[in-house]
Amino acid sequence: MLLEVKSLILLRQALGRLEEGFKHLPGWTVDIDLNDMRTVLSEVAERMQDNFPYQHPFYAGQMLKPPHPIARLAYMLSLWINPNNHALDGGRASSAMEKEAVGEIAKMFGWETHVGHLCGGGTMANLEALWISRCRRPGSKIVASTQAHYTHQRLCDVLNIFFEAIPCDRHARMDLNALEAMLKEDEVGTVVATIGTTATGSVDPLAEICALQREYGFRIHVDAAYGGYFTLADSLGVDTRRHFDCLAEVDSIAIDPHKHGLQPYGCGCIIFKDPSVGMFYKHSSPYTYFTSDELHLGEISLECSRAGASAVALWATQKLLPLVKKGTFAGYLDCCRQAALRFFRNIEADPRFLPAFSPELDIICWAPRANRASRISELSTQVFEKAASENLHLALVTFSEEILAQSWQDITWDQDHVTCLRSCLMKPEHLDWIDRIWGVVDDVAKKINW
Ligand SMILES: *Cc1c(COP(=O)(O)O)cnc(C)c1O
Repeated sequence: MLLEVKSLILLRQALGRLEEGFKHLPGWTVDIDLNDMRTVLSEVAERMQDNFPYQHPFYAGQMLKPPHPIARLAYMLSLWINPNNHALDGGRASSAMEKEAVGEIAKMFGWETHVGHLCGGGTMANLEALWISRCRRPGSKIVASTQAHYTHQRLCDVLNIFFEAIPCDRHARMDLNALEAMLKEDEVGTVVATIGTTATGSVDPLAEICALQREYGFRIHVDAAYGGYFTLADSLGVDTRRHFDCLAEVDSIAIDPHKHGLQPYGCGCIIFKDPSVGMFYKHSSPYTYFTSDELHLGEISLECSRAGASAVALWATQKLLPLVKKGTFAGYLDCCRQAALRFFRNIEADPRFLPAFSPELDIICWAPRANRASRISELSTQVFEKAASENLHLALVTFSEEILAQSWQDITWDQDHVTCLRSCLMKPEHLDWIDRIWGVVDDVAKKINW
């Protein structure tokens, strides 16, 4: 079978163990009709076939990664309880697990203090960070690079904060000169540094941004939704490593366990260095905080109900695969990074293709070589479609002339943007599959009409 099912037996066993904790209760049964359910579930299975094969190494497109079997099992197991991590009244064990798991994430970044929690995803994590930024620096603006996630501008709209985008250099990183010019001119409350942009995996120059902070005194929020876990990797370039090593200095970090952390969707995380920001979350709830004087996570999070299952899955995953350098989990990230480097070397060595950005993490961007931006875009689309028909799933991405003109000096810009090919090589298996993936790319390149 192509789908992993071997681990399912563990679920049955663990459910028995879970049940032991409730044996003192009088027995009762839940009435279900297996036949009706079988029919519906079979229809669900059929409907779900209408998807790209995200779990397969031949899916080398968007930022999608299958959860680890332990995450899947722990998540399912907890659904028999269905805890709610708003208050300890709704999820005692899973709240404790959330505090531990989030503490391990803070420790991974070298933080000795923190306050934080899980949330729906990177967008929600960034929302909380920008909201706290506004609480700390009312009336000042928030800046992020033009390659920052599109939601920052939108979130600033929601929060009624003035947002401005800082141009990027030819590596798709925040341009430091542009940032400093902005700092001289304006009241900047918070700089959002993206440690691993969604399009290219570029890492903003955090070391220099921290140096500027000492001079100008703004807050630093790091959007590490996609790239954060790479701090454990061994194979980062020297400069990239230097920026990751500054994560210990920043004010807040958003990271998505549902991206590189092997979790099902619905698992983001926000951490703040200064635990006293908890005071901005302060509210009273007349109905929820009763069974304990201990901290209820709902007292330090913006959302009310949150899936305890997410915390349970994350805790289990980190127990099996601790967030430590040189560990198995760190090794997975190195595989992804090596896969990207190997793929990129093939691109660079092949006269049919144009590299766009050297990969800093595990995303590669490239295009079929042609003279004009419009023709490159057409060919990218052709490769994308043809590869999909051969079961290899890539992604497309659009860049502005501004960001690529310096790297692609021989290209005629007959339009101000260009469509390129993009691959997030996020599965450790990608490393073993690179030659086969490249084989399909090579094959497709021979078949398209250049
Ligand atoms: C994915 C991503 C986000 C948004 O996160 P969601 O979990 O999709 O809400 C924000 N920032 C970056 C850098 C991302 O890669």
